[in-house]
Amino acid sequence: MLEFESLINIPTPLIEILDDLFVENDVKVFVKRDDLTHEHVSGNKFRKLKYNLLEAKNMGFKKILTFGGAFSNHIAAVAEAGFLFGFDTLGLIRGDELNAESSPTLKFATQKGMKFEFVSREAYRNKADLTSVFSNEYFVIPEGGSNYLALKGVAELLEEQLYPDYICTAVGTGGTMAGLLSNVKYEGEVLGFTVLKNGDFLKDEVSFFLEKDFPENAELETRFHFGGYAKYNDELLSFIKTFESKHGFLMDQVYTGKMFFGVYQMIKEGYFKKGTRIMLLHTGGLQGRLSGL
Ligand SMILES: *Cc1c(COP(=O)(O)O)cnc(C)c1O
Repeated sequence: MLEFESLINIPTPLIEILDDLFVENDVKVFVKRDDLTHEHVSGNKFRKLKYNLLEAKNMGFKKILTFGGAFSNHIAAVAEAGFLFGFDTLGLIRGDELNAESSPTLKFATQKGMKFEFVSREAYRNKADLTSVFSNEYFVIPEGGSNYLALKGVAELLEEQLYPDYICTAVGTGGTMAGLLSNVKYEGEVLGFTVLKNGDFLKDEVSFFLEKDFPENAELETRFHFGGYAKYNDELLSFIKTFESKHGFLMDQVYTGKMFFGVYQMIKEGYFKKGTRIMLLHTGGLQGRLSGL
């Protein structure tokens, strides 16, 4: 067995947050604090890694290969997981002009023992070719950590408290949203907030991971991308700052800030029925939080 539960802080707490807006609209809002899963590497990336790591171990792999950009939460999580659970890790990083000093994420991953190959953007697009060179020796985890093994780890988090009426999550690749929907016991709604522009295609991604049509209890909200992946404006940053000082915990401007902003907006718009219990999944990502935000 992998000592997963002893090194990662799960189950994570569920806290209720209070706001006049929620009283006015008669909703209850809870935050599932997956940002607390680990001191350095918070959030859904560990949920997604759990069964991948177990599978790697069961198959006898000692090395893990994965992919990402220079600021990727997933790269940070794989590096930390390798360190904690005794795997050598190799990151194929997008951008052959980069080196191990190019970002705080890569510096952190280096400290955790990760090695890198820096590949051109063109080569990066052909991940299958790149992977074939390594796949005998390495257990390969896709970009963002999303695969069928990831779904199971995410589905588990719903078992840690009573089911809400809605669960809201930020959506990057769709793996986390699919994971929540893959829990067949949960019959509430899953509302995904895409963090990139033109996010409609993510419906197909979620379906792909689930191996079925986009479920009836799922909805994808594509309005709150703030110009695209990792883009932000003053309105978003000011929302985050106000929220943080009021509630005493942090969020990032790439994923969780956009989702929380979107939920507040939709509460204002009267989207949620009276009496609804809404759970916001804090997917972490604080290693990518803008410093001095
Ligand atoms: C990766 C990530 C997401 C998106 O998860 P997907 O499974 O790729 O949709 C959301 N929030 C944070 C903080 C992340 O790092």
